[in-house]
Amino acid sequence: MWSDRTPQKQLIGIDVGGTKIAACLVDLQGRILSTIQRPTDVTEPEATLDSIAGSVKQLMDANQLDSKSIDAIGFGIPGLVDAEKGIGIASVNLGWKNIAVRAGLEARLEIPCIIDNDVRAGAKGEARFGAARGLSNFIYLNIGTGISAVILLDGKIFLGTRGLAGEIGHAVLVPDGPECKCGGRGCFEAVASGPGIAERALGKIKNGQDSILAPQGGSHLPILTAENVFEAALHHDQVAIETLEEIGKLMAYSLQYLTLAYDPEAIIIGGSVVLSNPLLFKNIQQMLRKLGRSSWVFGKAYSKDLVRLSTLGNNAGVLGAAALVAPQP
Ligand SMILES: [Zn+2]
Repeated sequence: MWSDRTPQKQLIGIDVGGTKIAACLVDLQGRILSTIQRPTDVTEPEATLDSIAGSVKQLMDANQLDSKSIDAIGFGIPGLVDAEKGIGIASVNLGWKNIAVRAGLEARLEIPCIIDNDVRAGAKGEARFGAARGLSNFIYLNIGTGISAVILLDGKIFLGTRGLAGEIGHAVLVPDGPECKCGGRGCFEAVASGPGIAERALGKIKNGQDSILAPQGGSHLPILTAENVFEAALHHDQVAIETLEEIGKLMAYSLQYLTLAYDPEAIIIGGSVVLSNPLLFKNIQQMLRKLGRSSWVFGKAYSKDLVRLSTLGNNAGVLGAAALVAPQP
């Protein structure tokens, strides 16, 4: 694909979210050269495709690029994606069901397009530009509003029989725990995602624990976010500190489980929940160290570098999308 023309020096990666689209021009080292953002039109699928294609055109105009100067464009899309067929199978955020995304974008842009699920794109971004550079066996665990993992074995994404490999967000972590969007109870995602963390802190307040997060004077409970809990922990709030200790332990159990199931070189954690909260990451590492000391089996795999933070941070989405179209190094 790349052989009969001069290899391109710049990549375009588009991160499509439920509220905004980020479009970036990136060099082959993963440095961001130019960015534009615009809101996602989710009124209907054709309008969504129009707004995605519009973001590409806007980026290309701003950088005086024409369709001949770009070999292909990469798109990270939320939800279930059939990358090979170029189909958005289902996305709650975009309101999509079985949409021919690649064909729709190629018709609008007249440039080859590659699409994939945004978390899988994030994993490819880490492999190409970030914390997983040089690794061929690793797991990328995204912890944000949702939780899912991407498993890379011998440099290839392992999808499983039904494409479910890595959907550990819906494995039960706390029996009979809080309700999950999937219908189950106590799933990893219901317990340890951003909303799950807020819910746990709220539970402690409901049980009468004193906290700066508790309502002052009034009787109704506050609406909390994980960010409120992180902030309160910085102010030494006991409810917030306990919540993050408990969540750190639960996350460590899941990380131990993933390690012993796949024996990866490393697990890279992406997503806002852990990246924006160093105390939570410290708790995770502490518990992993303890687990590594107490079991000689896990001890063989454990080191302080086993679980690492994403180095792409907020740019994981666009850099992951750009990695989808990066030529082989
Ligand atoms: Zn679930």
